[in-house]
Amino acid sequence: MSEIETDQNASFDAIIVGAGFAGMHMLHQLRQMGLTARIYETADNVGGTWYWNRYPGARCDAESVAYSYSWDEDLEQEWEWTERYSTQPEILRYAIHVSERFDLRKDIRFERRVTAIHYNEGANRWDVATDQGDSASAHYVIMATGCLSVPALPDIAGLDDYKGNRYQASQWPHEEVDFTGQHVGVIGTGSSAIQAIPVMARQAAQLTVFQRTPNFSVPAQNRPLDDDWVAGFKKNYRGHRHNQKYGLNSGFGDLKVELGETVPLADAANDISEEELLAGMEARWQQGGATFLSLVMDSMIDDDSNALFANFIHNKIRETVKDPETAEALCPTTHPVGSRRICVDIDYFETYNRDNVSLVNLLKNPIERITETGIQLADGHVELDSLVLATGFDAMTGALARIDIQGEGGEKLLDKWEAGPRTYMGLMMSGFPNLFTITGPGSPSVLSNMMVSIEMHVEFISKCIANAADKGADKVQVTKSNEDWWVNHVNEVANATLYRKGGSWYLGANIKGKPRVFMPYASGVGPYRELCEKVMDQDFRGFEFVAA
Ligand SMILES: Cc1cc2nc3c(=O)[nH]c(=O)nc-3n(C[C@H](O)[C@H](O)[C@H](O)COP(=O)(O)OP(=O)(O)OC[C@H]3O[C@@H](n4cnc5c(N)ncnc54)[C@H](O)[C@@H]3O)c2cc1C
Repeated sequence: MSEIETDQNASFDAIIVGAGFAGMHMLHQLRQMGLTARIYETADNVGGTWYWNRYPGARCDAESVAYSYSWDEDLEQEWEWTERYSTQPEILRYAIHVSERFDLRKDIRFERRVTAIHYNEGANRWDVATDQGDSASAHYVIMATGCLSVPALPDIAGLDDYKGNRYQASQWPHEEVDFTGQHVGVIGTGSSAIQAIPVMARQAAQLTVFQRTPNFSVPAQNRPLDDDWVAGFKKNYRGHRHNQKYGLNSGFGDLKVELGETVPLADAANDISEEELLAGMEARWQQGGATFLSLVMDSMIDDDSNALFANFIHNKIRETVKDPETAEALCPTTHPVGSRRICVDIDYFETYNRDNVSLVNLLKNPIERITETGIQLADGHVELDSLVLATGFDAMTGALARIDIQGEGGEKLLDKWEAGPRTYMGLMMSGFPNLFTITGPGSPSVLSNMMVSIEMHVEFISKCIANAADKGADKVQVTKSNEDWWVNHVNEVANATLYRKGGSWYLGANIKGKPRVFMPYASGVGPYRELCEKVMDQDFRGFEFVAA
């Protein structure tokens, strides 16, 4: 039952929550279909991830030409990316440009956090409330709240006692932060920290990195984009996009096609000689980027194959980092490479050779507490002028769990997901008709170039809504049995891979009390798209269209 009193003047075909790349694309698509839609967004501008994450060194880990919208060919041709991996300011400029070019902003209400979404059964509509007192109703609700939009704070005693400057990587100030002359500490060595540390080290007087778990990282080999290369790439943009959608590299694109790479792909590491494998790894290392592991097809399935890649990276770390103890501490040994999203860096390991950078291995010297002036370790106190927290996110379910979402019979989403998220294809949940999630748990989402996964879901949701209209149906829903089947299938696929050994945020393992369930769908973007297309071709098999 809905307890939200809705504003009669705010009635829409659809309400979208979130104005990142997912929400903006969804809004555009619905408007193209002639539907009325409104977005509510917490921030005061569009961009989502790229609005919030302004830490030094923030940039994408998929190549810019692939980490961009594919749904407007003029936009694709006209927009100029300046670097192979664009910086956060450039990606945010792109998001703002899209919002203006397609006149999206008039249908976005900024600085409004959606707090409640209740299904009104009698009216077959969803009532939505925000923290600013707005309320509205819509036939459909689309959650574009992001997989990595809720920061996770570390559970360390004394965090609030600290009196120096404290920064959170994912909620970085909008004005420039100057670390010149300062002693800076960083807690966390995930993707954001790996990007930020080399940049902060060039400014700070002293940088101390507090590391619990080292992560695998491969070089970006970033460079300014060459005009001729871009012109050649743009001539075959459709071919590249097809490759991203259906190819083997989880939407990142195919190196062979896009960068002139000639390394052969093999089904298994065992199928090629050790020399060939090492030469292939070296070529990919020099080439740079997140597709390092897809040199062979079994790197995320077979322990031995995976270990060859892990060893290769360990050796690179040992060759790069001069101090042997620091090098060993930086070698990840507790999880298979790739079972946590592989990081893509610019001079990360090299940074530890600087005189002003030191690593504290928390496995040997743990943090006892944070003090007013720094960090008290089991062995010694580190004085800090500034403390940077790069401690990740309450991933995939965090943003949804923070909204009071109530479906049929007043069922709360939080209760439904008590033992872990349950969806059908990452798109819908039984008992929550006409409510869709973009890149929800149970879809490839964070295991992919997310732009590709977002576009797949926007396409599916739009066609599903159009199909309902064609059929004269008021309600789109999924059954519990289909949902159960899908959850089992997602688990089966995960269990056949090495992801299950990652102990990572994919599993909720970074959040105290969060159920340990592998949340993304590990089939890869291509097979998932083929499945979505099959479902659409078979009259949305598994989805029910009901006249209310
Ligand atoms: C630092 C960082 C780097 C990344 N780099 C890459 C990369 O290189 N390649 C890649 O594929 N992916 C990357 N990602 C993942 C990235 O999140 C996605 O690529 C993509 O930007 C997600 O878009 P989205 O619109 O789905 O979600 P988001 O961009 O997260 O947007 C969600 C929006 O919803 C809003 N919101 C959430 N809850 C509410 C609420 N209750 N009410 C109102 N508004 C709400 C948020 O404020 C946010 O603006 C990165 C993520 C991070 C954090």
